[in-house]
Amino acid sequence: MNQPVSGTLGRYWHALEDGRVQCDVCPRYCKLHEGQRGLCFVRARQSDQIVLTTYGRSSGFCIDPIEKKPLNHFLPGTPVLSFGTAGCNLTCKFCQNWDISKARDLDRVQDAASPEEIAEAAVRSGCRSVAFTYNDPVIFLEYAVDVAQACRERGIKTVAVSAGYISPEPRIEFFRHMDAANIDLKGFSEGFYKALCSSRLAPVLETLEYLKHETKVWFEITTLLIPGENDSPAEIEAESAWVMDRLGHDVPLHFTAFHPDWKLTNRPPTPPGTLHEARRIATNAGLCYVYTGNIHDPAGQTTHCHSCGAVLIGRDWYDITAWYLSADGSCTSCGTPCAGVFEANAGRWGRRRQPLRLRAFDSELSAH
Ligand code: SF4
Repeated sequence: MNQPVSGTLGRYWHALEDGRVQCDVCPRYCKLHEGQRGLCFVRARQSDQIVLTTYGRSSGFCIDPIEKKPLNHFLPGTPVLSFGTAGCNLTCKFCQNWDISKARDLDRVQDAASPEEIAEAAVRSGCRSVAFTYNDPVIFLEYAVDVAQACRERGIKTVAVSAGYISPEPRIEFFRHMDAANIDLKGFSEGFYKALCSSRLAPVLETLEYLKHETKVWFEITTLLIPGENDSPAEIEAESAWVMDRLGHDVPLHFTAFHPDWKLTNRPPTPPGTLHEARRIATNAGLCYVYTGNIHDPAGQTTHCHSCGAVLIGRDWYDITAWYLSADGSCTSCGTPCAGVFEANAGRWGRRRQPLRLRAFDSELSAH
């Protein structure tokens, strides 16, 4: 039996002739009877409308290095206030954040936080941006947009970490409020998306093309390479060629290491050699900024000038170890601009990860 639900009125839905109500936020287009929840679990039908049941609640806050999102070309070295809610609109068998994304009881989202409180916490803790991460912000669009507006009023940037699985109309509103994004391109075949994520590749590619051609959002792409599933040289070549052809040479691409988790525990961790090879393939395809992730690989984390080859930004995990960009973000050796959003100097946050309780943080501040 369906439990009564409560929440904030959602956008992007319509009533169907058969009496059900369809959520139009993502390409799953869940069709709901009264009291039912969508696949993401956090959008539900209540009194013939779709509500968001997690508005104003978070699964926790943490100050991270921006490189952890991963974003290597967006305010490098700066701290980002990161948070998520619960639920997800994909069902990836290899989910690396399943304790949050698969949360079914909303005990996970115990930190109450208004958009203004989050933006204020970012200002007071010295963060340059707020990231919607840990689970996909597409499903809590109304909350994410309100937080983003509160951030912009205070000069704080916003970052979406998303699978890009969103319908065309909400996509416009959602990304209008974002300054940067990392889009998970989970594989490069419809078969992979269908078998491992119960979803489709095509809408994700549409989101990537939309971001490139119709917005000013700075975005980077991440592909988690899973042994035997999406790591063949042919698939990596096809993905690299598509990025080169449809998005251009200056979109950063991160190949990151999988570790066995959730329902995919019969695959080994990604060997470093696979990540190195993927980086080589994508670089040979013409992409200028290709990185490895989730392994210790300072060479694979270094940004080079695509014109003269000089090191622009050196990294060791999330520490910035070298900085050869001029104040306007150009190579100090040859003057060629590096694609991205840069300030005169690198931030100094380093590799720290600092959990933050918003309410405790507020009382601590008011005590001083
Ligand atoms: S956002 Fe949630 S409820 Fe809406 S279509 Fe997607 S999975 Fe279904």
